[in-house]
Amino acid sequence: MTPPSGCLICGADLEYLDQPEEMECQYCKRVCKSTTWCVNGHYICDRCHRLDTEDLIEVICLQSTEDNPFILMERIFSSPRVMTHGPEHHFLVPAVLVAAFYNHTRQPGKKELGIKNARHRAGLVKGGSCGLLGDCGAAVGTGIFVSIVTGATPLSREEWRMANLMTARALEKIALHGGPRCCKRNTFLALQEAIRFISTEMGIHLPEPGKISCRFSDQNRECLKDRCPFYNGI
Ligand SMILES: [Zn+2]
Ligand SMILES: [Zn+2]
Repeated sequence: MTPPSGCLICGADLEYLDQPEEMECQYCKRVCKSTTWCVNGHYICDRCHRLDTEDLIEVICLQSTEDNPFILMERIFSSPRVMTHGPEHHFLVPAVLVAAFYNHTRQPGKKELGIKNARHRAGLVKGGSCGLLGDCGAAVGTGIFVSIVTGATPLSREEWRMANLMTARALEKIALHGGPRCCKRNTFLALQEAIRFISTEMGIHLPEPGKISCRFSDQNRECLKDRCPFYNGI
């Protein structure tokens, strides 16, 4: 995939100023002096431009105060480093959920350890697990999230039930749409199911995603098109 030439956030043209100005990085929220932003005022610092995908997911989730998992997801998807498909989605799902959950419940101090644990555990889920193990990594990511925020272990009772039930709910939803795999479709479905689960099982109401319109169809040779609930006809 060729990186877009305009703004990574909104696609608009870049603007080059005569004098450096203070700008806040859209990803890490640091304020730096720069001469380049987009016509809508978006700026991404040099350090974030150089990060690898999983480091970028960590930075965005750690620094944001956002409690909508879909907004965090979109911010991460704006980076050309995130491939159409790939195991980074296994980490993205629990990372945005952990960040949104702790931001919403005003426990930001728990984010760093939660996101580090999510990264380690998501790393255990290899690419292709959906087709080879019958266990989509986006669904497992929702179980990782519930395990982290409830403190589940293999010896827990209620927390164990919740973590496994979360994975089961997301996995069933993903399975019923059929293959071939699409890491974008499965991420959308997993996050939708997680928001529903957090609401019904935990009584915590994260923002509803609203209508999701996929902008990745033309990058996916195996796109289900009209059979995908997020296909927008492009
Ligand atoms: Zn922009
Ligand atoms: Zn930055």
